[in-house]
Amino acid sequence: MAENDFLAMLAEGGYQVGELAKYRYPDGIEIISKKHDEAEALTNEQLRKENVVLFEPAIRINNFFIRIDVLVKRGNDFELIEVKAKSYNPLDPKMRGSRGGITSSMLPYLQDVAFQKWVLQQAFPQSSIKTFLMMPNKTKSATVDRVNQMFKYSRTEGVISRIPEGLDIKTLAEHLLEKVSADEFTDEILNTDLKFPFDKKPLNEAAVEWANAYANDIKIAPHAHKDCGKCQFKTTLDDELKSGFHECWKEANAWNDQDFKNGTVLDLWHCKRKEKLINQGLLKLSQIQPEDLMDDPAASMVDGLSRAQRQVLQLGNIPADFDQGGFFFNTAFFKNEMKNWKYPYHMIDFETAMAALPFHDGMKPYEAVAFQFSHHTIEADGTVKHAGEFICAEPGDFPNYKFARALKKELENDNGTTFMWSHHENTILTTIAKQISEDPNAPADAEGLITFIYSITKDGDREMYDLCWLAEKTFFHPDTKASTSIKKVLPAMLKVSQKLKNIYSQPIYGAPNGIKSINFASQEGFRWLNDNGQGDPYAILKQYAKDAMPEGFEDSDEDETSIIAEGGAAATAYSRLQFEDLEDEARTRIISALLRYCELDTLAMVMIMQGWQSFINI
Ligand code: SF4
Repeated sequence: MAENDFLAMLAEGGYQVGELAKYRYPDGIEIISKKHDEAEALTNEQLRKENVVLFEPAIRINNFFIRIDVLVKRGNDFELIEVKAKSYNPLDPKMRGSRGGITSSMLPYLQDVAFQKWVLQQAFPQSSIKTFLMMPNKTKSATVDRVNQMFKYSRTEGVISRIPEGLDIKTLAEHLLEKVSADEFTDEILNTDLKFPFDKKPLNEAAVEWANAYANDIKIAPHAHKDCGKCQFKTTLDDELKSGFHECWKEANAWNDQDFKNGTVLDLWHCKRKEKLINQGLLKLSQIQPEDLMDDPAASMVDGLSRAQRQVLQLGNIPADFDQGGFFFNTAFFKNEMKNWKYPYHMIDFETAMAALPFHDGMKPYEAVAFQFSHHTIEADGTVKHAGEFICAEPGDFPNYKFARALKKELENDNGTTFMWSHHENTILTTIAKQISEDPNAPADAEGLITFIYSITKDGDREMYDLCWLAEKTFFHPDTKASTSIKKVLPAMLKVSQKLKNIYSQPIYGAPNGIKSINFASQEGFRWLNDNGQGDPYAILKQYAKDAMPEGFEDSDEDETSIIAEGGAAATAYSRLQFEDLEDEARTRIISALLRYCELDTLAMVMIMQGWQSFINI
């Protein structure tokens, strides 16, 4: 398995759910071989039996080959079960949307099951097939501790199950995993046209056509469409690897490399009109006009940028009133917001994960886990320091209450404003407050923790301030492509703020008389920028993130598919610490990388704040 697939599997908890699912069928036989022919032969041998349960059986018919998660055969009756590491709430299944159609979040899973049913039916025309999804039931609480530590992953041995002696694992698996009938949906999918860009046809016709093209190496003519923005075959034009995306768009639009140079419609930030623009033949940013993006292009920007206005700025016209030299900054808006802030400023950032299977007795699948935070402060006189941090990644140790306690200790000493980047921190803290209040074994300081959380979350008297929202309203630099990701905003700020260049090209970070740092402390001090004030701390951060990954890990250069750019590096590293059988040295290396990684995230918030303040001469 490729490293990236391995990491995705670990982070999603899919292998854990898959392993637990097997315990629902104690007599099940696993078809282990990865070789198509061998797996098919072993499957056929088993299917000669009247009754049998198979894990991963291989079915081949014509050009089609499938591996089914669980196949139950009772004479001529089959149950085809697809196991998914996706949380399911039977009280609110979200299988259908408000207009009655299958929801977009469930459609790919159900299409997958429908396709498998179609193949199996051809292989066994006389059989009757029922289809199911099996998913963790998020309304069910674990009845024992440490369910998520029962299935570890070893590079050499694969999944290692450690089921406590005497535990009725079959009953536990039936309790936590819901078997949901999918027949209604698979029938609908097989009886209606499959929609894909610029066409639709029945699934069986499309499958035959595409399989035929694949078998005979026939290229299917590409079409430019909005989902090409998430193309999984995309890399940069100068990469030595081929970029499928660029190949498709060149062929579909008769383009050459130059046509991509000034951006395409796919670069438009949070734009819901992409499909319409593409249908109008407006594929390059240079072809798009402000009125194509918003109904009132003359609307004022004084009260903060709307999303459509950010898209208009992407077209290249920064209004003179706000043009600070090739970038947009709304000083009046910033000053107004600043009036409500109090020193010391607290910059906080959380690293969190979701555990597919519960940590403790009483907990449910997919509860949020807050395992790390970092905290920087800025005093009224401009003094910056890395004030504190927390990490708890011991296998099986549920960190949330310790996390909330440590955060309270960091913030309760003054009444300064606490800043977050986007509302994730707010969501996580309210989740922890709920976990504490619903916990029959809540800690002794539960009341104090809940009071503290409510004081700094939405509508609390010390509600956290969202700097990402402020970035959206007040700052735009063309390099960010309108994104408000901190990983895009920081390099742009470093490019335009002389104050930041002056501070961070000095070796002061972590130096004895410089900026106090917990993880970068040294006699010489650390410098984030070179003599010319250039550099990207996130390129350094990327290295720390890579240090937390296994050897051989290659991150994607494209933000949409990059584990690191998407902020998944810490959660993935945490999954490794929880579920992978690791040597102590590897564990120490990952934790050290996580600490530096998170410290830079709050330092980035400090830098951005310092840069913005420099625009109003603070
Ligand atoms: S660019 Fe990617 S998503 Fe678009 S048609 Fe080509 S392969 Fe498909």
